Amino acid sequence: MKIINNINGIPLHYARLTGNPYGTRGIPRDFAVDDLFLKTLEAAFKEVFKNCPLGVPEVITTAGILVNKPGQHGHGRAFDLDAIFWQNDTLVTLNFLHQKELYIGVESYLRRHFGIVLNYFYPNHQDHWHVDTSVPVDFNESSRSETYYLQMALKYIFGMEVLVDGSWGRQTQAAVRAVFERLGIRLPITTKKNYLQFLETTGNLAFELSKAEASPARLLANLTDVLRGLPVRYKNGALEALNSFADHQETVEWLNGLDGDPHAHG
Ligand SMILES: [Zn+2]
Repeated sequence: MKIINNINGIPLHYARLTGNPYGTRGIPRDFAVDDLFLKTLEAAFKEVFKNCPLGVPEVITTAGILVNKPGQHGHGRAFDLDAIFWQNDTLVTLNFLHQKELYIGVESYLRRHFGIVLNYFYPNHQDHWHVDTSVPVDFNESSRSETYYLQMALKYIFGMEVLVDGSWGRQTQAAVRAVFERLGIRLPITTKKNYLQFLETTGNLAFELSKAEASPARLLANLTDVLRGLPVRYKNGALEALNSFADHQETVEWLNGLDGDPHAHG
């Protein structure tokens, strides 16, 4: 076990405090971590930030590594990633709905190193990624967390019409076949080499898309996604208000007069 306050020189902060709440840069803190698991974290972060167009960040906030609870955290072999802070940009995991490309770019590269990655769609993981190495890196059709990721990539990066529900079915299978063919990646996805290639290609494409400045139409679609995620008692009123804005004749004309979004998919 080692005590660390950074990974590859990137300071680790804690932001789950009253004065330094979730979503802020938090405060520096020491974390105990398993030696071997630290090596994986270092390799993973090195690859993520080598490929991420925003480069090496200034701060990473984590909810913890060695945490007094059952499972891999109890051995210092799991990491909860809350948010990433660059000089002028931030990725807060809870903001997935309007930072989809950057989020999927980072996750694609994390998945090349950690057999377990629990993301936004996985129960109780909206506000952090949980990563650990308790299982090897591969793709299993029966894995909910892996299928969630796959469907997110298919839908938000490749524009396929798939339901993000964590269940492998015919719709997902057909979308995988179409996208792999388009990318020139061999099937099946369950062969590790093919899966790793898909992760790298998706990561690069997601990062590329994250660089493009979003169009107003795209931002409006993001806003709709965020409102759809609200609790029911807020959702309907908010959506009605948004729709009356979006459906207004002048709004429609204004949006139609702007350049289309190269990857808008509803
Ligand atoms: Zn965790």
